[in-house]
Amino acid sequence: MFSKILIANRGEIALRIQRACRELGIRTVAVHSTADTDAMYVRLADEAVCIGPPASRDSYLNVAAILSAATITGADAIHPGYGFLSENADFAETVEAHGITFIGPTAEHIRMMGDKITAKTTMKALGVPLVPGSDGALENLEQAREVAARVGYPVLIKAAAGGGGRGMKVAPTEADLEEAWSVARTEARAAFGNDEVYLEKYLDKPRHIELQIMADTHGNVVHYGERDCSLQRRHQKLLEEAGSPALTAKQRDEIGTIATSALTRLGYRNAGTLEFLYQDGQFCFIEMNTRLQVEHPVTEMVCDVDLVREQIRIAAGEPLGYSQPDITFSGHAIECRINAEDPQTFMPTPGTITVYHPPGGLGVRIDSALYAGYRVPPYYDSMIAKLIVRAPTRLEAIERMRRALDEFVIEGVRTVIPLHRKILEDPQFRKGDYTIHWLENFVARQQ
Ligand code: ADP
Repeated sequence: MFSKILIANRGEIALRIQRACRELGIRTVAVHSTADTDAMYVRLADEAVCIGPPASRDSYLNVAAILSAATITGADAIHPGYGFLSENADFAETVEAHGITFIGPTAEHIRMMGDKITAKTTMKALGVPLVPGSDGALENLEQAREVAARVGYPVLIKAAAGGGGRGMKVAPTEADLEEAWSVARTEARAAFGNDEVYLEKYLDKPRHIELQIMADTHGNVVHYGERDCSLQRRHQKLLEEAGSPALTAKQRDEIGTIATSALTRLGYRNAGTLEFLYQDGQFCFIEMNTRLQVEHPVTEMVCDVDLVREQIRIAAGEPLGYSQPDITFSGHAIECRINAEDPQTFMPTPGTITVYHPPGGLGVRIDSALYAGYRVPPYYDSMIAKLIVRAPTRLEAIERMRRALDEFVIEGVRTVIPLHRKILEDPQFRKGDYTIHWLENFVARQQ
């Protein structure tokens, strides 16, 4: 087992990883920018190294500074968390070249899944169902027209290097295709330096359902069921559930078997998430994330597993030690992302937290690095906490979440807590009757 892990991240996830390390008896190294000197994850780590100024490119994306920090502290592994360098294949390769273990998949698999076209063709060959669309990159507008005519409008032009919903444009009809094509490519070139695009049929009422996978280095692959992440605004998830209110245990088993056998054949290792759009009883793979996800706690709550601990054990070469039939699902879990944003305009609201009282009680979990007096810096993602609850049934989980949100006191910055309260009261949400478009419409109705 490792003796010291460097956590190449910040905020709640840096603390989350630290907690898993501590329970495994592993020492931790926090790295931080000058804007995060006072952060809780820095204070609680065994060692801390400042890796640069506030801008992410100079600190949390600064590979040389992070590697130096790992070398001088004698860390034997690096956990990248999510975002930042977590899906950077070159980083994973460089870390390993320095004799340090990268806690995640191989650079080869990160690279493969980072290109969404390669990801789709690979998954197709492994028997995973896809959204109908182009077989690979589009050569030109003419070809886009042909594929669109074949799959039927509306269609979506998507960037091969896409992420965070950027480089993605809908063409409702043929008349819109040329513009969608050129806007998607321009956006993709600007955001990712790669203007390769592909086409998918635009599904009108899908749910976003993703499957959590874990693979060890001894050929064992399991899944921990699904998360329903359909509640999104501008392609950013806001509230997630495990399991999905739309799936039966049989459907979960079926897609789980397809996914685990695909990843077994691929020789994948460590944590991964297969994202699907689910409509009319059909699963359509859209992409795979080769890292831990923000919403991983809902899975942990229903499966009673520590996914970060599993990632670390696997990276250290340990076998999983259990197989699919050992994984059972108990109750229902919901996560609300608490962002420091205005609940109506969604403008970020950085500032000083004056009062902080997290909720408690049975089945309530907070993943956050907040404390009273903490200054939420303006440079990074606005998510400041995740509130997760588990209860025997979905409706009880909803009531528990409402109760926990009522107890949650965060003063000094505005947050999206009032919006979460409204969502949880909505009759359609309570019935589990929603698609990926539901939240945008709901937010529009509130304004
Ligand atoms: P990104 O990596 O930029 O997040 P994804 O491919 O994961 O891109 O898609 C992000 C979101 O966009 C999905 O969760 C879904 O809400 C929507 N989306 C993606 N593909 C389609 C599609 N073919 N039809 C309808 N909505 C889609």
